[in-house]
Amino acid sequence: MRIAIKTILIAATLLCALPARAALNVLACEPEWGALVRELAGDLAKVYQATTALQDVHHIQARPSLIAAARRADFLVCTGAELEIGWLPVLTRESGNPAIQPGAPGYFEATRYVTLIEVPTRLDRSEGDVHPAGNPHVQTDPRSIAKVAAGLAERLAAVDPQNAAEYRKRYASFAARWQQAIERWSREAAPLKGVRVVEHHRAFSYLFGWLGVEVIGYLEPKPGVEPSAGHLAEVLKLQQTRPAKFVVRASYVDPRAAEWFSEHAGIPVVVLPFSVGGDERATDLFTWTDELVGLLVKAAK
Ligand SMILES: [Zn+2]
Repeated sequence: MRIAIKTILIAATLLCALPARAALNVLACEPEWGALVRELAGDLAKVYQATTALQDVHHIQARPSLIAAARRADFLVCTGAELEIGWLPVLTRESGNPAIQPGAPGYFEATRYVTLIEVPTRLDRSEGDVHPAGNPHVQTDPRSIAKVAAGLAERLAAVDPQNAAEYRKRYASFAARWQQAIERWSREAAPLKGVRVVEHHRAFSYLFGWLGVEVIGYLEPKPGVEPSAGHLAEVLKLQQTRPAKFVVRASYVDPRAAEWFSEHAGIPVVVLPFSVGGDERATDLFTWTDELVGLLVKAAK
């Protein structure tokens, strides 16, 4: 009996001495990047998502819980292009965590892998423009997701070399399935080409560029600036010459401006999930893009 216990103790000690494969602690600024890490890393990563698709990611409080998550993180994946300028620098600085400082291998910005559009010719934050480095919302075009995925898989392999082969294998599988889905979405979205819309914020510029949807006006006078009565009236005037078919807003946005416009222009509002989790059907990257394409096609009919 004593020998048996001793054997068990020795075995237990040996097991504890084996290097535990702790999952990579990942801090994802936005849900789409958290979802992409889950695709590429599976169980190899434990993802902490800093925000949800129902929050305005331009304006997030650097809460103590977020700073604590930044302290624990081995790897950080964010949008960049100044989207998180109001809160991410606080998280990295206050975390005191060298692994996720800008320039470290554990600091990954998705927008580095995509050519930004709507880059202002004149940089001026004083007018309240929250897109001073260009439009940061690259996640809405699945072709951008594909580019980011390639960069992210390589970076995960570099930060966690023991599992490099697994990240590359998972990436190859994801990339193949994603490419197939892109082809399907392109076919399904064919009726959207040339459809005119009014948009609240410049949230879906990449998606609309891909699908050939034409945005005739924005409810915000500038990205991040609240719609004013005067500006809304200006946009409404555009309806007389080149009428939009519907008005689009992301689900996290205050609905009032879009509802006002809908009422006065006599066109419906289409509410789109801005990321994974933006509505109950958008549970991962695939179902989220299904939603974007499906809701737009339905509204265009
Ligand atoms: Zn924005």
